[in-house]
Amino acid sequence: MSEKPELFVANWKMNQRHEHAVSFAERACALAEEVATDNKQLILCPSFPSLFDVTTITSESTVAVAAQDCSEYESGAYTGQVSAAMIADTGCSYCIVGHSERRQGLDESSEVVARKAACAVENMLAPIVCIGETLPEQKEGHTFAILEKQLNPVLTQLAQCKGDINDTVIAYEPVWSIGTGIVPEKKILKSIFDWLHDYLQTAGQLAEASLLYGGSVDEKNAPGLMGLDTVDGLLIGGASVDFQSFRKIVLS
Ligand code: PEP
Repeated sequence: MSEKPELFVANWKMNQRHEHAVSFAERACALAEEVATDNKQLILCPSFPSLFDVTTITSESTVAVAAQDCSEYESGAYTGQVSAAMIADTGCSYCIVGHSERRQGLDESSEVVARKAACAVENMLAPIVCIGETLPEQKEGHTFAILEKQLNPVLTQLAQCKGDINDTVIAYEPVWSIGTGIVPEKKILKSIFDWLHDYLQTAGQLAEASLLYGGSVDEKNAPGLMGLDTVDGLLIGGASVDFQSFRKIVLS
């Protein structure tokens, strides 16, 4: 069995205008060549309007492209929403679902997130499912209970999916770490990733999932985070908007 690639996911959020997204994508192709022998997979997550051009630019390279969200519906009267099928049409291969900025800011429940993950899989997109607890939840010792609550609907929905769920990615992103510069202590992260790994092994259907850490990743902390046994990659927000900063993380 081949070893899992290390995933470096650049979640630009609503920060990259089209021109910048295009030039980043061009440079990312060169970076992918630079690390071609390192088993590193770069994944760019532009906003919807740039998906098509970014997938076109990266189509001859190993760089993959993810949407930042998809609808929980296949099609219909949902003005402003974008279906997983439409995203797949652009040439994307991944789709983020359940980012905490959507769970919190837009009140997305774990059931909605699970339906989005299922729509992604049914349309041959690998979902990148974000999970993570808030600071009060962490302080009250509820981290594992919250992660279970967020994961279980996804496990249930994906078990019923016709598509291939083996490329599913789970990103643990403590909400209190996103954009704050605070990264959990290594010991805590290790216990969470060990738990996550065991939980998915026991559940069975996502035993193959790659596990990412996300939250205030930068070039300084990236090597330590990637050094954790069960961490297969990084979901990078703020530090992925600037190409040089993303490049340093990938090369670190
Ligand atoms: C994110 O929003 O997914 C994220 C990890 O952001 P940041 O790296 O800026 O904390």
